[in-house]
Amino acid sequence: MDSQRPYPVHRKGDTGPTVAEIRRKLAILELLPDSPDGVEDPNEAVFDDPCDRAVRHFQQQRGLNVDGLVGRETYDALEEARWRLGDRILSHQVSRMQRGDDVAALQRRMLDLGFNCGQVDGIFGPESARALRELQQSLGVHADGTAGPETFRALERLTRTVVGGHAHHLREAEAIMRSGPRLGGKVVVIDPGHGGLDHGHIGHGLTESAVVEDLAARIEGRLTATGVQAYLTRAVSARHAARVDLDDEARAMFANETRADLVVSLHVDGHPNPAANGVATYFFGTDRFGQSSAVGKRFAELLLSEIVARTDLTDCGVHGKTWDLLRRTRMPTVRVDLGYLTNPGDAARLSDASFRDYIAEAVVVAVQRLYLPADEDAETGVLNLGELLSGH
Ligand SMILES: [Zn+2]
Repeated sequence: MDSQRPYPVHRKGDTGPTVAEIRRKLAILELLPDSPDGVEDPNEAVFDDPCDRAVRHFQQQRGLNVDGLVGRETYDALEEARWRLGDRILSHQVSRMQRGDDVAALQRRMLDLGFNCGQVDGIFGPESARALRELQQSLGVHADGTAGPETFRALERLTRTVVGGHAHHLREAEAIMRSGPRLGGKVVVIDPGHGGLDHGHIGHGLTESAVVEDLAARIEGRLTATGVQAYLTRAVSARHAARVDLDDEARAMFANETRADLVVSLHVDGHPNPAANGVATYFFGTDRFGQSSAVGKRFAELLLSEIVARTDLTDCGVHGKTWDLLRRTRMPTVRVDLGYLTNPGDAARLSDASFRDYIAEAVVVAVQRLYLPADEDAETGVLNLGELLSGH
């Protein structure tokens, strides 16, 4: 879990109007039964066991952390989930972009029909507006980039001729192939997941922000040595401590502005149970959006296998998630959670400088392997930095 901007978190046992609102949203999604008479006093609403189960079910469906806590991300997701295509007019609003399942449905439809709106992320941004105008032109309706009743009717009339909708991710894969195996000139953004006042998890004398900042610097050095242009989303020096209020969205926007080829986000985990341990990687994807990033998934698999091959961290797998950083970046983005600070074994590993070097090397090798054609790809755990630098 991450500390995001402050937001009241609601959980089992809570009562009050916000709980009533959460229950109402869950009822619309048919995850909770409607209240019998529908006129309950919102102050009396209780976050009870069925509500807790419904929240967890919803979080599981949506690729969120399954913790039963309703913070900003889960609350926003509940709000987004209730929109069906045609419920409201959709357009690109610069100040506050529209988000919802109706936007995702429209994006999926546009991709199916061959209009490139980027990834299906349920956010109506400039790419969606551009694709919509093209679609409207070909439908013969007013091409204003606003999806209203006329556009919805035209879409309904259209027979669904193209199935699949993997156009964006085919483009993503093509871009990887086209750009060739050489690392020189590629741009990689390294994201220390925490910094400054946002210190993340703490355990065994370590803080998450310090660990990921140090790792980021090691990775940056190695990537730069291979000719990659590496950028950090946060200045790691304490002198820049003022620039620490950067949430996931701000850091995603930074990555988009640099037009990076890849983003690697660094975290370490923590858990009330000290036995929890191991490394996991995450890419953008969930069944609810009908699509996931194939390149992101491949990169997440490579990164995990290179780390597991070089260390004795437990393999906790590769997972599709819809966290803001994965969702808002326009390029393949992978987040790695490198061990648990709350586990004595993982904490001891993470305190060791040579262990951090192994991790940094694993990241660089995973980046290189992503760009190697399948028939030239090396076996996991055998490439090293020296070979990369000598031009392999
Ligand atoms: Zn974290």
